[in-house]
Amino acid sequence: MKLKNSTPINWKFSERAEQLQSSVIREILKVTSRPEVISFAGGLPSPETFPVERMQAAFDKVLATQGKSALQYGTSDGYAPLREFLANSLSTADCKITPDQILMVSGSQQGLDLLGKVLIDEGSKILVETPSYLGALQAFSVYQPEFVSVDTDEHGLIPSSVSAKGEGARLMYALPNFQNPTGRTMSLERRIELVEICARMGIPLIEDNPYGDLCYSGEPLPKMLNMNPDGVIYMGSFSKVLTPGIRLGYVVGPTTLIRKLEQAKQAADLHTSQLTQMAVYEVIKDGFLGEHIPTIRTFYARQCQVMLDALTKFFPAGVEWTKPEGGMFIWITLPAHIDSNELLNEAIKQNVAFVPGGPFYANNPAKNTMRLSFVTVSPERINEGVEKLGKLIQARL
Ligand code: PMP
Repeated sequence: MKLKNSTPINWKFSERAEQLQSSVIREILKVTSRPEVISFAGGLPSPETFPVERMQAAFDKVLATQGKSALQYGTSDGYAPLREFLANSLSTADCKITPDQILMVSGSQQGLDLLGKVLIDEGSKILVETPSYLGALQAFSVYQPEFVSVDTDEHGLIPSSVSAKGEGARLMYALPNFQNPTGRTMSLERRIELVEICARMGIPLIEDNPYGDLCYSGEPLPKMLNMNPDGVIYMGSFSKVLTPGIRLGYVVGPTTLIRKLEQAKQAADLHTSQLTQMAVYEVIKDGFLGEHIPTIRTFYARQCQVMLDALTKFFPAGVEWTKPEGGMFIWITLPAHIDSNELLNEAIKQNVAFVPGGPFYANNPAKNTMRLSFVTVSPERINEGVEKLGKLIQARL
């Protein structure tokens, strides 16, 4: 029986909830879902890289052979064979990672939230790159920290800026490979220096690395995790090397931290889908990623080159952009007087979309910046979209 009369509830949200905002990107994606829009906005991997049949076969096999345990509750730390597999692949000659240093999470985005929950108090000083991954700023901001923006240049984060600004910081959040949003990569020397500085200052260093395997040539640079496993918290994800829809990632760190994160994970969702973890283990256990990842690298490298060529051809002098060595994004810096929010409004009228750069800054947004993703748009449409953007920029010079 439904009540006939009830007083409308005057929703009073917690102070924490009042910090929450919808991601600008998700808002833009609502506009860009129309097929006629050429969208450089999303951070989506290309669906052409998804190994659908492999995944289907793995889910079928797991359900057929281990159905009961796959459909049962699992442990909060994650499926043991998968953690063991990851521990082996993350270990190096002089740095062994063990399964108890790994917590499986429902996408590395959940790892960011759990890290915020266990490491950040209201007013805690936390160090982020300038600019940084918007989703991390969103996840951390719920816990009301004081964000301190660490300086960067074309080679990524500048470690000496951590020494200068980091006193008393509760964590440093770093994106060493093909950073989201800029596509920049930190050099090996800078990685070593950053690890040393954070260790000296007693600052936990988060190494968020969802794009690390997507290098266009050569092999990925060494992980900071393996330089100091006692002080680095590493975050990995299957989103960019398999598919994002399975929501599977992992956090690696010192066991004291991992056990605390495990408690937070238990409170949040008990555990990550057992069926998914078992199917992913089935897909990767015999080395599938070793053959699959190179195909993604080749594909993204080609897409990136198409966009770089289009930028050279169609963007006017005075505009600068990064030249990524991997990953999914190019970062554009427009002449200082051009506001990329205004540019976006005009671009959308012409059915082209991108993400304005402002929201990626924890402090002092540079409004003349923007992020372009090049992996989900065909080469013809990359050219068409970049040409349109070039004309709109030209008109504002
Ligand atoms: N970190 C970075 C830098 C990202 O770009 C993303 C996804 N866009 C994530 C974390 C979250 O990835 P997921 O939750 O899909 O593992």
